[in-house]
Amino acid sequence: MKELRALESVIDEVVRPQAVVVDRDGEFPRKAIDALAEAGFLGLVSATDVGGGGGGLAEAVAVVERLGAACGSTAMVVLMHYAAVAVVEAYGAEETRREIAAGRHLTTLAFSEAGSRSHFWVPLGTAAEADGSVRLDARKSWVTSADEADSYVWSSRSLGADGAMTLWLVPAATAGLRPAGGFDGMGLRGNASRPITADGALVPAEAALGADGAGLDIALERALPWFLVLSSAFCAGLMRSTVDEAVAHLTSARLDHLGQTLAEQPVVRLEIARMRLAADGVSALLADTLTALGTGRDDAMVRVLEAKAVAAEAAIDVTDRAMKACGGAAFRKELGIERSFRDARAARVMAPTTDTLLDFIGRVTCGQPLFGDA
Ligand SMILES: Cc1cc2nc3c(=O)[nH]c(=O)nc-3n(C[C@H](O)[C@H](O)[C@H](O)COP(=O)(O)OP(=O)(O)OC[C@H]3O[C@@H](n4cnc5c(N)ncnc54)[C@H](O)[C@@H]3O)c2cc1C
Repeated sequence: MKELRALESVIDEVVRPQAVVVDRDGEFPRKAIDALAEAGFLGLVSATDVGGGGGGLAEAVAVVERLGAACGSTAMVVLMHYAAVAVVEAYGAEETRREIAAGRHLTTLAFSEAGSRSHFWVPLGTAAEADGSVRLDARKSWVTSADEADSYVWSSRSLGADGAMTLWLVPAATAGLRPAGGFDGMGLRGNASRPITADGALVPAEAALGADGAGLDIALERALPWFLVLSSAFCAGLMRSTVDEAVAHLTSARLDHLGQTLAEQPVVRLEIARMRLAADGVSALLADTLTALGTGRDDAMVRVLEAKAVAAEAAIDVTDRAMKACGGAAFRKELGIERSFRDARAARVMAPTTDTLLDFIGRVTCGQPLFGDA
């Protein structure tokens, strides 16, 4: 596929060379994002009638999986962009959609808040009418690309309608928004996930993405499936590169006194097989999830929930096994495995967290509602 060849060359020429400094210094991968924009990948999932690539979730999966294998931070920035674009494409203004399609506009999700933490379905931030505008006040706790994005798909309480949430497209330049602190994370060190405070930030009423009070349904229908499936793709890519790198090391590291490599030791081969089982299992579940969504299968929603829950835990398992199997070489930075080990820990705690997904899957399986008392 022509687009994937173009992606591979951006990865080889820009993303991978920048990956070391992104992780070491916690630097936002600006060059990589600009190169991806230039090659059409920020506009990939925008509709063709606004100048975009017309791609869907399957195309986004292919991109995020490859980026996940090369630089977790770059992959996370693009993942959040695609999840936000899924909402903007359905409810945003045409002018903004055209800017995104042309690769001139990076967006992201601003859902998590200091008060409700990972329970993004309960925003505590407010929206209030103010002289024909809307005043937003909130303490967002984690926003990927916080001071690098051009806009945020922002959740608040409703203006007054029934319903827990309203969504807004908030330009990053809005007065009253303040990204706080830096981001010195254990993993995904270049994704610029910082808190943002809104203190009387004014946006026009037209900034609403969908009807007042309808935000939770929109987030669940549009942003969440993209976020969950792309998180699975992110983990799949990270696991693939980890297994490849571990195998390359284990098939070349020699036990000279035995005249054999580490990979020729049965116990080491078991670890390689366990890593491969976990990684292949995630890829198979991801492919089935895309099929379930594409064909409207009854179990599509459960598959979407499962895709991230399984992938997040598998990525932790695979990178932990790679650290053990590759020993001292993995402990030092001479292999990329310790970075993957750190990056892999994010998906489990990104909302919906693994425990929340398990609760949702249990509820669906037992015919109980997703939210509230079962
Ligand atoms: C790298 C990174 C990037 C991110 N980017 C974004 C972004 O772009 N936009 C965005 O909106 N958010 C983002 N987030 C935030 C993320 O989605 C979560 O909201 C955040 O990681 C949760 O952290 P917390 O400490 O607030 O979670 P907490 O809610 O404190 O959860 C901590 C643990 O407690 C568990 N827990 C919580 N409540 C309960 C309960 N009632 N019962 C039992 N267990 C419970 C959770 O499952 C979790 O394991 C990002 C997070 C990371 C790590």
